[in-house]
Amino acid sequence: MPRLGALFLLVAIFSAAVCAIVYQLLIGSVSSYFLGNSVEQFSLTIGFFLAAMGLGSWLSRFVADHLLLTRLAQLEIWLGLLGGVSVGVLYVLYGYTDHFRVGMLALSTAIGALIGLEVPLITRLLRGHGTLRAALSNVLSLDYLGALLASLLFPYILLPFLGSLHTALVAGLVNAVLGLGVVLAFKGALLEQRTFRSLGAQALVVIAALGALAWQGEELRARWESDLYEDRIVHSEQSAYQQIVLTRRDEHLRLYLNGHLQFASIDEHRYHEALVHPALALAPSRERVLIIGGGDGLTAREVLKYEEVQHVDLVDLDPAVTRLAQRNIYLTRLNDNALNRRQVRVINEDGFVFLQREHMPYGAILIDLPDPREESLAKLYSVEAYRLCRKLLSPQGVLATQASSPYHVREVYWSIAAALEEAGFAVHSYHLHVPSFGEWGFHLAGSAGLDPTVDAFAVPTRYIDRQVWSALAVFDGDMARLPVQANRLDRPVLARYYRQGMGTQF
Ligand code: SAM
Repeated sequence: MPRLGALFLLVAIFSAAVCAIVYQLLIGSVSSYFLGNSVEQFSLTIGFFLAAMGLGSWLSRFVADHLLLTRLAQLEIWLGLLGGVSVGVLYVLYGYTDHFRVGMLALSTAIGALIGLEVPLITRLLRGHGTLRAALSNVLSLDYLGALLASLLFPYILLPFLGSLHTALVAGLVNAVLGLGVVLAFKGALLEQRTFRSLGAQALVVIAALGALAWQGEELRARWESDLYEDRIVHSEQSAYQQIVLTRRDEHLRLYLNGHLQFASIDEHRYHEALVHPALALAPSRERVLIIGGGDGLTAREVLKYEEVQHVDLVDLDPAVTRLAQRNIYLTRLNDNALNRRQVRVINEDGFVFLQREHMPYGAILIDLPDPREESLAKLYSVEAYRLCRKLLSPQGVLATQASSPYHVREVYWSIAAALEEAGFAVHSYHLHVPSFGEWGFHLAGSAGLDPTVDAFAVPTRYIDRQVWSALAVFDGDMARLPVQANRLDRPVLARYYRQGMGTQF
């Protein structure tokens, strides 16, 4: 083994380790976008990857010593191809088949097995250059270092700047170029084995194919994505937290986060009026209002109808959503430019972190978050979160939260009520029909003796009025309260209730 060849193999193991972690993170995060429940997706991806890597390592015993270089080059080329198209394959599986889960696990297994072959093959090659002790220590330390680099690059640079499809293609190109590098660096040995030409050709074909996909990738992604949504996509963005898609048909707008509908302009007023106006009608003061979530600005639009409102803190995790709500012409028209108004302070932070830190009291707190389909969201529907809200409310202050569907996910809806009660609130529950969502529920929470009677709403509304409001608290037998546990940080039941209710348990 020439010195330069050995050096090349060390660079290769480092780069291959970066790609290996990137593939795992890609499959885990793309599956989470499509299926939700990121804990489950990452557990499955990592589990299948590691087991398959074990399989690959075991299979390496069947590679004869004289074929090590040929097999290494082949492996890098095929890994490049498979890893490079992995995200595209996931899009196709989700968009056009019913076999996403099986396909995702098969992909993890195939990529994992190829990755598992890398370390033993390279270690055996390097052994010819020194002792086994040195070879193993070099290979493993570079492998682990590469993993660290990948886990830093992925969330901060690759995903936000390249997006998932191009990240996969770039990682695939790196593997294929490594394959070509093996072919060129060990030309002599491969010429002897008569594999130089065919391996060189394979590497070039894969590099050209991945390059062409990267060139056309944006268009392909847009086509796949538009097949997933009913209407024309007017904005699509992968933020550090979620996939944001805004669609439009005629005058109708819809916002999706990770494929889940957040509002449809045709009936969003029903949802937002029901969330905001009962709470503000009952609040002891409307001067200071806190909105958690609500990055689309539609809750803030309703809040700003009240002249007394002097200060609104809107805490939304994702700057990409609030930026869209501040800049997109369709959205600023719909939200009445709410997030650019002087009374509104947009804070891009996790709602829970904000609640833990803040101490200036609010007359009303409005919680407008996506459904608790993930543990990371469910924590904001927990007893602990509601206790923090109570501390931040002025005396007699009120809180209103969206609480998902009392019909489709009845356990979720009543578990949220139980959490509010366990946090010390008196709760008034209500629901209405929002055609785009179905039967939708909210809870109003205040101090003991909370009287939900509203004589009149002080601002113009399209949907809610005194009579409608008084009719919203009737729950028929299909939606009536049932005994469920409250969601607590140390006993997180809510996301599980949600997935059971939606029938998406694996
Ligand atoms: N009306 C919607 C519904 O029924 O699902 C909710 C709409 S609103 C757009 C939800 C917002 O919550 C999003 O902009 C998202 O970025 C934000 N969000 C998600 N997780 C959050 C967190 N942990 N802290 C604060 N905001 C969060």
